[in-house]
Amino acid sequence: MEKPTPPGTFLHVAGARPNFPKLAPVYDALRRRGAPQFVVHTGQHFDDALSGVFFRQLGMPAPERNLGVSGGSDSEVIARIMLEFEAVARSIDPVCVIVYGDVNSTIAAATVAVKLGIPVAHVEAGLRSRDRSMPEEINRIVTDHLASVHFATSSDAVENLAAEGITGDGVELVGNPMIDTLLLSMERFDAGALRRDLQLPHEYATVTVHRPGNVDTDEDAREIVEAVHGVADLVDVVLPVHPRGSARLRSQGLEKHDRVHVVPPLGYLEFMGLVRESRLVVTDSGGVQEETTVFGVPCLTLRPNTERPVTITHGSNQLVGRENVVRAATRVLAEERGVSVRPPLWDGAAGERIADSMNRRFPHL
Ligand code: UDP
Repeated sequence: MEKPTPPGTFLHVAGARPNFPKLAPVYDALRRRGAPQFVVHTGQHFDDALSGVFFRQLGMPAPERNLGVSGGSDSEVIARIMLEFEAVARSIDPVCVIVYGDVNSTIAAATVAVKLGIPVAHVEAGLRSRDRSMPEEINRIVTDHLASVHFATSSDAVENLAAEGITGDGVELVGNPMIDTLLLSMERFDAGALRRDLQLPHEYATVTVHRPGNVDTDEDAREIVEAVHGVADLVDVVLPVHPRGSARLRSQGLEKHDRVHVVPPLGYLEFMGLVRESRLVVTDSGGVQEETTVFGVPCLTLRPNTERPVTITHGSNQLVGRENVVRAATRVLAEERGVSVRPPLWDGAAGERIADSMNRRFPHL
């Protein structure tokens, strides 16, 4: 049993690294409005480097409850989170469950909540890669069709929802809460110690890669390693390695290049410092495409598609195939540095808009 929570409690569910910078500004804005809140961490990411460090660096209180679910296939994780979360949701009896992004915790919590008759608000609704081989795409689609409140980061997301019949008052374009976190923490970004430790030259590239489509088979990992080595022939590469894919990339010889610096996953402030000062970023991350847009750092996205087209139409992002990375990197390195771009409403106030909307929709006592 949970300790009693006041009527009108908002129940946030987060579980994996990309959730935390999205949760922080929403939580904070609701806290300032005096709303009762309860945070459930599903345990999907349990490493301090992927989880605890975010709560500390972003000044968030520790989650009230950790479900301790991690490891296993997608379905296994989703099923176990559902079982654990149902008991918590019943005892908290929140006025709304707020879920973030596109991870397994998101779809699991949304499913449980609607089955209990609890409304679901989805933060970062409507993004679509149109690639159903991505587990995240399935999570996005299902969550959006279960949620009754949809907070979109960009107008393309609103259009995607409309194309699936999700329209009306429940859909709000609010901007990007992850960018709230970036703008708020900007002065604390610092990769100085890391750059000194690695003795990095002035110009370097940051690389992150962890999507199943890039690291789940030896063949994919080998091609990715080749691409990374090709970039390292041009410029030093720092690669904060995600636990997913770490072993496979290493077994394919990732570290067998003098200018590839493989480091553990970095804290948010260190990572953002590193990205901000990069000459170039190569990634398959969703969030990093958005962050490089705001920094104006050229971003090569190692994927055939993106659910974040605004980073291409407005920002510094371009999609590249593995075989084209070196050519694209050569071109980018020869060009002027990019300029910082803020797509509409990526202004640091998305959390405020979400909190205002939630208070309007679910007035608490
Ligand atoms: N990030 C970090 N340290 C790292 C890599 C990423 O702090 O070593 C942050 C960064 O803000 C990024 C977020 O974690 O946007 C989520 O990244 P990830 O690539 O894990 O998830 P995705 O956005 O692809 O779902």
